Amino acid sequence: MIVGKPSPAPVPMSAVPENPPPPPTPRQRQQYVAALLARALPAASVLVAREDLKPYECDGLSAYRETPLVAAIPADESQVVAVLEVARETATPVVARGSGTGLSGGALPHAEGILLSLAKFNRIVAVDQAARKARVQPGVTNLRISQHVAPLGLYYAPDPSSQIACSIGGNVAENSGGVHCLKYGLTVHNVMRVRVATIEGDLLELGSEALDAPGYDLLALVTGSEGLLAVTLEVTARLLPRPQTAQVVMASFPDVESAGAAVAGVIGAGIVPAGLEMMDRLATSAVEDFVHAGYDLGAGAILLAESDGTHEDVEHETKKMIEVMRACGATDIRCSQSEAERLRYWSGRKAAFPAVGRISPDYYCIDGSIPRAALAGVLRRIEELSAAYGLRCANVFHAGDGNLHPLILYDANIPGELEKTEGFAADILELCIAVGGTITGEHGVGVEKINQMCSQFASAELAQFHAVKAAFDPLGLLNPGKGVPLLSRCAEYGALRVKGGALPHPELPRF
Ligand SMILES: Cc1cc2nc3c(=O)[nH]c(=O)nc-3n(C[C@H](O)[C@H](O)[C@H](O)COP(=O)(O)OP(=O)(O)OC[C@H]3O[C@@H](n4cnc5c(N)ncnc54)[C@H](O)[C@@H]3O)c2cc1C
Repeated sequence: MIVGKPSPAPVPMSAVPENPPPPPTPRQRQQYVAALLARALPAASVLVAREDLKPYECDGLSAYRETPLVAAIPADESQVVAVLEVARETATPVVARGSGTGLSGGALPHAEGILLSLAKFNRIVAVDQAARKARVQPGVTNLRISQHVAPLGLYYAPDPSSQIACSIGGNVAENSGGVHCLKYGLTVHNVMRVRVATIEGDLLELGSEALDAPGYDLLALVTGSEGLLAVTLEVTARLLPRPQTAQVVMASFPDVESAGAAVAGVIGAGIVPAGLEMMDRLATSAVEDFVHAGYDLGAGAILLAESDGTHEDVEHETKKMIEVMRACGATDIRCSQSEAERLRYWSGRKAAFPAVGRISPDYYCIDGSIPRAALAGVLRRIEELSAAYGLRCANVFHAGDGNLHPLILYDANIPGELEKTEGFAADILELCIAVGGTITGEHGVGVEKINQMCSQFASAELAQFHAVKAAFDPLGLLNPGKGVPLLSRCAEYGALRVKGGALPHPELPRF
C-alpha cells in the first residue's frame, strides 16, 4: 500500500460551481493555520515571519533547505496535541524537530507544513537511582542526562559525537549511536519506555521496565522511525554504573588496510572494546590541526580502542588489544596514562566533523554500515571513487561496528559540485549494499538516502513499511516524503541507475 494523502472521492460534475473560488494563497493558508494554532498556544509560540522561520530551514544536512509554513513551539503535552489537531483538521504536514543536528535531512521542514519544535520540553522529570533509570523530556540534550546523574555514579551510554547539542527525542527518532555503542548498544537498547502522541492526539506509553513486554514491540518500532509514526513526549532512559576505570590505546598503521585487519583481529580475539574507531590520514591531519590531541601525522590510519571496567579487566584487555595490533602491523602504540589524556585522545575523534569543516568550504557526511571483513576492500574502492570524482574524502568512523562515515569535501559555490558529491555519496551507499551492508548505521534515511532505500529493500518490503506508516498515520501527515520512498520513485531511480549511474564494483566480495 502506498501512503500519502488518500485521493479525494470523485466530485460529481453538478457539484462544481461554474466559477470556483481560487485556491487560498500560501499567505492566506499560513494565516489560517497560524490563527488556529494561536487558539491553543501563546502568540509568541507561533512563528510566521520569514526571519523567525529562518533558523528552522535545515538540519545538519545544510545542502537541503526549506522554509516551513509556520513553526509551533509548544510547552506542554496538551499544546502538542492541539498542534496535531490543527494539522489533522487542515490536512497540514507536521515535522517534529529536536535540536536540528540530524545529518539526513529528517527535520527538514515541509514548505506547506508546521515545524513542531520540542525545544521547550527540556526537563529531567525524575531519576530513580535504585532502578537506574531517568525519565526525561525529549528536548533534553544527550550529554545533560549523563551530567545530571554523574554525582550518583551513573551515566547514559549512547554518546553521539553531537551529544552536547542533540536531543534525546532526536536520538530516539534516529536510533542514534556513538563511540560506546559497540559495547553498550544503540539508543534502542538503552531506552526502556517512551510516551508518544499519535497524529490522532492519542497518548501512548510504549515499552516496559521489564526485560520483555507482551504484545508487539512498538517501542523498537518507534525507535528509529524518524518522526514518521508519532511525536515523542517523554523518554525513560536506562542508566549504567560508571566503569571503575577506562583506558584508550592509540595505534598508528601504515594504511587503512592494516588498520582494518587489526579491527577484525581485535573482535576476532573475543574482545569487545568500549569503543573502536578509525581515522584515515586526511581526517587525522584535519583533526590534529584543530585540537592538537597528539595524533601521529605520519600514519596512514590510526585506531582508537577503549577498554573499560575494573582495573584488572582493563589491564588484561588492553594487553590483548596491543598484541593483536602489533601482529597486524601497528607502527606506534600509545596508551592513555590519565583521565585527561584519555579525554584528549577522544577529543579529536569527537571533533572530527567540525575539523574537516575547517579544511573545506563544505563537507557531506555519509553514513553506511558494512560487515567488518569488508572494511579494507570498501575503503580502497572509496579511494578509487574519490579519484574518479575528483573530490577529496576523509574517513573517520566507528570501525568496530563497521559503521562508515566518509566525509566528502566539496564547494557548493562551484557549479555542479554538489551534484557530483551526491553522485559520489550514492555510489558509496550502493557499495555498502553490494557488500551486504546497509545505507545507514545511525543517521537515518531522511531525505538524503531515500533513493537508496529502493536498492536496499524489495518492493514488497517497502509496501510493508508503508502499511505500518498508514496504521499510525493514515493521512500521511507526519514528516511526509522522508524515510520510505514511494514505489513510483523507486521505479524512476532504478531506471536512472541502469542508464547512467555507477554500479558497485564487481570485484568486491558480498558477505
Ligand atoms: C557534528 C555531528 C556529529 C554527529 N555524530 C553522531 C554520532 O556519533 N552518532 C549519531 O548517531 N548521530 C550523530 N550525529 C547526527 C545527529 O546528531 C543525531 O541524528 C541526533 O540524534 C539528532 O538529534 P536532534 O535532536 O538534533 O534531532 P533533529 O535533527 O531535530 O531531528 C532528527 C529526526 O528526529 C525527528 N524528531 C526529533 N525530535 C522528535 C520527537 N520528539 N518526536 C518525534 N520525532 C522527532 C525529526 O523529525 C527528524 O526526523 C551527528 C551530527 C553532527 C552535526
